[in-house]
Amino acid sequence: PVAPDAKAEVKRAICTHCSVGCTVNAEVSNGVWIGQEPAFDSPLNLGSHCAKGAAVREHAHGDRRLKYPMKLEGGKYKRISWEQAITEVGDRLLKIRETAGPDSVYWLGSAKFSNEQAYLMRKFAALWGTNNVDHQARICHSTTVAGVAQTWGYGAMTNSYNDIHNSKAMFFIGSNAAEAHPVAMLHILKAKEQNKAPLIVCDPRFTRTAAHADEYVRMRPGTDVPLIWGIMWHIFENGWEDKEFIRKRVWGMDQVKAEVAKWTPEETERVTGVPGAQLKRVAQILATHKPGTVVWCMGGTQHTVGNANVRAYCNLQLALGNVGVAGGGTNIFRGHDNVQGATDMGLDVTTLPAYYGLAAPAWKHWARVWGLDYDYIKGRFKTPELMEAPGIPVSRWYDGVNEAKENIAQPEPIKAMVYWGHAPNSQTRQPELKKAMEKLDTLVIIDPYPTVSAVLHDRTDGVYLLPAATQFEVDGSRTASNRSIQWSEQVIKPMFECKADQEIMYLFAKKFGYAAELCKNIKVEGDKPVAEDILREINRGAWTIAYTGQSPERLKAHMANQQTFDKTTLRAVGGPCDGDYYGLPWPCWGTAEMKHPGTPNLYDPSKPVKDGGLNFRALFPEYKGESLLATDSWPEGSELPAGHPGFTYGMLKKLGWDVDLTPEEKATIEKIGGEKADDVAWTIDLSGGIQRVAVKHGAAPFGNGKARAVVWNFPDPVPLHREPLYTPRRDLVEKYPTHADKKMMRLPFL
Ligand code: SF4
Repeated sequence: PVAPDAKAEVKRAICTHCSVGCTVNAEVSNGVWIGQEPAFDSPLNLGSHCAKGAAVREHAHGDRRLKYPMKLEGGKYKRISWEQAITEVGDRLLKIRETAGPDSVYWLGSAKFSNEQAYLMRKFAALWGTNNVDHQARICHSTTVAGVAQTWGYGAMTNSYNDIHNSKAMFFIGSNAAEAHPVAMLHILKAKEQNKAPLIVCDPRFTRTAAHADEYVRMRPGTDVPLIWGIMWHIFENGWEDKEFIRKRVWGMDQVKAEVAKWTPEETERVTGVPGAQLKRVAQILATHKPGTVVWCMGGTQHTVGNANVRAYCNLQLALGNVGVAGGGTNIFRGHDNVQGATDMGLDVTTLPAYYGLAAPAWKHWARVWGLDYDYIKGRFKTPELMEAPGIPVSRWYDGVNEAKENIAQPEPIKAMVYWGHAPNSQTRQPELKKAMEKLDTLVIIDPYPTVSAVLHDRTDGVYLLPAATQFEVDGSRTASNRSIQWSEQVIKPMFECKADQEIMYLFAKKFGYAAELCKNIKVEGDKPVAEDILREINRGAWTIAYTGQSPERLKAHMANQQTFDKTTLRAVGGPCDGDYYGLPWPCWGTAEMKHPGTPNLYDPSKPVKDGGLNFRALFPEYKGESLLATDSWPEGSELPAGHPGFTYGMLKKLGWDVDLTPEEKATIEKIGGEKADDVAWTIDLSGGIQRVAVKHGAAPFGNGKARAVVWNFPDPVPLHREPLYTPRRDLVEKYPTHADKKMMRLPFL
């Protein structure tokens, strides 16, 4: 605890170490950050910080901070000025642009940016003339975003941390929240305590989260889909599914059911290593403790079949009817503090902010919001085709240094990489990454700390290290995993010679000659675009997911109001959690009065589809062994079906638009709520679905205009191992069944 200092002021910032979004009360005296406490009045914190959160002050004060710009010359880093850095780096990048085109420079952004910085960087890359702009979500949860968006519409967590208190059962797969999201674990333990909600943890490793499980399911790695099918086998076999919910709201469950029938207890045990009797127990728990939530994290997504895993998890919830209810849903714990927000802001090779695609109507929409001429933006790209073509995902940029490869719409090799708040620690193919880094003309690293990117290669020159401010040295909004947007106050001024990321973007934009365009409608103080103004621009344009009602004024008031809660009461009762939520979670619709409270839980199946209720699609990931692969498009020339009219219709109703549907779509919507609509389309992605209807009726330009679907492609299946790969260490499970050493999380609340 920090000794109270009468002169200290308290700044309200958001912890940067994971996506839970805990509030930090930072104590500042004479401009010096002297101490920190958890915000006892934040319902997210539950009166605590984890060990990571308790050390954020050290993050800002770390003695390894980059203090000034540096350049690698003759194998040694030497100090340079900011002016020299911007001039030299700028000249090198402009030369590359001139000789090889704008796509030869890759702008790799960050899930550590604020929403405003992520948004500005997407715009910055567009004005540079490339879609080669991406961030960490590509590596962690892009399979989640695709899987849940295609199942029920939005690519995000459906409920919220606080809502877990309403859960009667919790099913974890590929998540070790006790270590990765420790304060979220508090919410889980609270549900366990107050609702006697059983915790089921599926994981090949016996983790600290597993130590709290009522049912620990030790599965063979990579067998998520058969495991879920095996659980669903018992659900269907015993008639435990929610038949009414499926009949009214779910398409495609028949196909899922037919596949599940193959996954008998014996077959499931052969593949997953989990005994049928245990899976029956799990199925029974889930069927008798409703609503239950499903939680997953990168243990489920970082597979070659990550998207299939996600779809399978969603199907489990659809079978149980656990969607659109408090305590249910899919609570997806994301990684970095603003990975949800950076994804929402389109810091991505396939979208513009708010999941608008890359087709001309989407560009025209954002050109209007930016106050720019569409043709001017088009002229920045090497060709109009490249403007509408996805960039190279960060997971494959190193293929782009050689020559254009299959599936990469890249005319020229990549010659410069700008690693901006990103380190490739978790990327695969590191030897190739290293080689690619060495082949580049220029490597720029912009970060508060020197990262792996700075040392992975054996270069002797052409590398620049530019010091960026941490999120505690700037202000701005960030979006937690539960879609809640919160404002983080600046705690201290940037230390040493560090600069705010948006200031560095502005300086480069000045050098490149488009600073005025970058900030046409945004106030700039000195060389720093003002965060509030950037958010106002986002509010004006991000309609698809409704970032429209979270004005800076509202977000700031929200943070300030927390302070009126009574600390003692909160400590005693654990915060205003039950039935409560936090921040202004999107969708939060902007109205004249700006009063929309945000949407803590997505989807409301109590309403008919025609009134904005939503229906869902049980997507069908067939499992044929470890070689299951996905392609992201139908074969050339395929006739694509009509899309996801239920979702489209619901969205447009929410936007208040009069939707003129085709007779087919009308018929489909009428059918939903009465009969299954198996004859209706395979799903398409969010932006494509809305765009198809909206553009047709001149309502708004969204999306890429191309219905995209997913086809499961099975090249020669790798034969499954007949014998278990290893014997599950049941001895360990038995030895530590109640390893509930609460101190291990070092949470004051426990
Ligand atoms: Fe920070 Fe996450 Fe820990 Fe909360 S749970 S204090 S957000 S690291």
